[in-house]
Amino acid sequence: MTNPLLERHELPPFDQIRAEHAVPAIKAILDENRQALEHILDAGDFTYDSVVSLREALDDRLNQAFSPVGHLNAVMNSEEIREAYNTCIAMLSEYSTEVNQNQALFAAYQAIAGSPEFETLAAEKKKVVENALRDFRLAGVALPEAERQAYAALANELSSLQSTFNNNVLDATQSFSKLVPVERLEGVPENAMSQMRKAAENKGEDGYLVTLDMPCYMGVQRYCQDRVLRREQYIAYGTRASDRGPDAGRFDNSEIMQQILEARLKQARLLGFDHYAALSVERKMARSAEEVLAFLEDLAARSRPAAEKELQEIADFARQHGGPEELEPWDLAFYAEKLKKASFDISEEELRPYFPVPIVLKGMFEVVRRLFDIDVRAVDDMPVWHPDVMTYGIWKDGTLIARFYLDLYARANKRGGAWMDDCRVRRRIEPAGSLQIPVAYLTCNFTNPVGDDPALLNHSEVVTLFHEFGHGLHHMMTQVNVAPVSGINGVAWDAVELPSQFMENFCWQAESLAFISGHYQTREPLPEAMLDKLLAARHFQSAMMMVRQLEFGLFDFRLHVEFDPEEKGQVQQVLDQVRAKVAVVKPPAEYAFQHGFSHIFGGGYAAGYYSYKWAEVLSADAFSKFLEEGIFNRQTGEKFLSTVLENGGVEDAMKLFVAFRGREPEVEALLRQDGLLPDAA
Ligand SMILES: [Zn+2]
Repeated sequence: MTNPLLERHELPPFDQIRAEHAVPAIKAILDENRQALEHILDAGDFTYDSVVSLREALDDRLNQAFSPVGHLNAVMNSEEIREAYNTCIAMLSEYSTEVNQNQALFAAYQAIAGSPEFETLAAEKKKVVENALRDFRLAGVALPEAERQAYAALANELSSLQSTFNNNVLDATQSFSKLVPVERLEGVPENAMSQMRKAAENKGEDGYLVTLDMPCYMGVQRYCQDRVLRREQYIAYGTRASDRGPDAGRFDNSEIMQQILEARLKQARLLGFDHYAALSVERKMARSAEEVLAFLEDLAARSRPAAEKELQEIADFARQHGGPEELEPWDLAFYAEKLKKASFDISEEELRPYFPVPIVLKGMFEVVRRLFDIDVRAVDDMPVWHPDVMTYGIWKDGTLIARFYLDLYARANKRGGAWMDDCRVRRRIEPAGSLQIPVAYLTCNFTNPVGDDPALLNHSEVVTLFHEFGHGLHHMMTQVNVAPVSGINGVAWDAVELPSQFMENFCWQAESLAFISGHYQTREPLPEAMLDKLLAARHFQSAMMMVRQLEFGLFDFRLHVEFDPEEKGQVQQVLDQVRAKVAVVKPPAEYAFQHGFSHIFGGGYAAGYYSYKWAEVLSADAFSKFLEEGIFNRQTGEKFLSTVLENGGVEDAMKLFVAFRGREPEVEALLRQDGLLPDAA
């Protein structure tokens, strides 16, 4: 029996790949890779080609076989593919631990870095070696034996603590529910109501079940007239997995948080860092913990006055519309929603007719043609996994440089959300020197077309499409020849969102909207009056949102700088200090959102939450150069291409930014984009 995942194909043969191919293929490749790696290390005489290039080839073959499996699991899920995927993931994680902890391999890289050959290597190859050495170091491989084991034990402990943290949050979220009669839900929109009705039915009850699920939470907080109910739900949500609130102590994360912070601190200390935040920035664009703190505090100081004004505006509005004298946190979303409706009479649905998919796509490709002088054209020679999938090639100066799949519409058994993933990475295949061009998967979950009409997007969906296409460009426009730093590989993750958020800007400019919009019946572009409303609504409460994000970012970062296991109650203390300085909304004393802050306690954002704002500054500031020089200025476009987009992870992200912008990033552009500073002349 032949296995298409084990054959060489320019593109994955999606018309032949079946779930049963996955496990045997991955198993066979992992076996071969293990042998090949052993062979490399036994042979001695370590050179870039004999070690690094060969490892790259092994990884690339593995990636080519697994990428379609991972992708099908996400977009064509079935019991068979899920089972195959999970088996593969377990095998792959075992393999990657083996490789990442391989001391002989580490020694081989050290030998290469210390050899005369190293100085003669191209910059991209040097970077691959340096990154690998850094990653070995940060995985504890360079430590003496006893400490190495201690480090590995901490890593295991952390992974189990983090999953306990997440499970507690999940259990606490599901634990709360309150059955109410319809009278108490006045104002709540239909979709949230029907969910609550179904939830009650599932429990065999009459009435409506108020829960902490996001659609229900938003539905009640934003629209429910009943203030007592809003308060009850707000407190239940904000005390999840803590020692407070209706489930006090039942899923309490207090001790887990302490242990997580302690294990992280120990890891950082073993590696020679003062604190975990210093370890976190080691792989990021930010150069030091101090730089991150100064960045967050600067933004907070500049946006807080506007946030206070916005809060006052809601309070005034509430008072004038029969609301309470003193606005409490559970009144905020409710009156903000009313104020928004009163100020900007605009609904996302009204805009849909102006954004039919064929026009939006044509317009988006026109944007990049003007910016980067590239041609995006539909192709029909790429096997697909579903008839909805569209396929494209990108040409520059007549040469095909990349391809991508576009899978736009929601369907059963497709994971929600939108994302870009790589299918093939650009690399030069040694020793023949032939070029493998990059291939990307762009996936969205937009509303399907109805009848003979094209699919109509709302404006947020258009923004999402541009965002993912921006990630795609970063992956596909790369000129790098070695996979580990090609495309988005090796890019510091506080810089990864630069191209994606950059592309979003073209959805907010009259000049580009003129051709990315067009009424599906009349072809009339988005009317100016609608654009004005859209822009005004974009800035609504942006300062309050900004300080909220900064509160999270500062809390996360300071905690990972200052944590001291000897000091009790420090988590709450740091949070209180941050709030005193940054927040305009003061929650009640029992509020304990930190116990449910999965980003930083349960996942990868520890001492990294700041990255959201950091990347927003980069993209806003990059785009401000286009605002100054013309949003379709060819020179500016060429410069963005030759610095940010083409260099992947070869150069430090700050260097690339400076090469493009002529200086380091400044926060003013973001403040302007959010309407917190007047537009530049
Ligand atoms: Zn993104």
